[in-house]
Amino acid sequence: MENTIESEGMHYEGNCIRPPPEAYSILLQVTLGCSHNKCAFCGTYKDKPFRIKDDDLILSDILFASKHMKRQDRIFLMDGDALIIPQKRLMWILGKNQGTSPLGETGRNVCQYKKHPDEISSRIG
Ligand code: SF4
Repeated sequence: MENTIESEGMHYEGNCIRPPPEAYSILLQVTLGCSHNKCAFCGTYKDKPFRIKDDDLILSDILFASKHMKRQDRIFLMDGDALIIPQKRLMWILGKNQGTSPLGETGRNVCQYKKHPDEISSRIG
């Protein structure tokens, strides 16, 4: 990865939201929109087609956060339903976070409806 990409800062796309408890977390955008996007009460990502962001952008953001966000000790994975990411790829992302940043806790996301609890706990245990 070239440093020029990393030095650009975080690669946020579109509107981003985070729950109040994540005010002091690193906001790592690993998906755009929500893969479900059908909850009647939620219009957050209605205009944002879902996709998983490219690994090089995610890695660039991890490197940037590791250099410039040293006070935060948690990450919050955005956008909606970040845990839709296949297990192997998600473990790569979380492993990169643990290896390159001051993060003491793996990522969380509020929309975790598609994963079995055992699968989630295996990621953060
Ligand atoms: S899963 Fe979450 S982000 Fe997706 S539509 Fe429902 S409430 Fe909104």
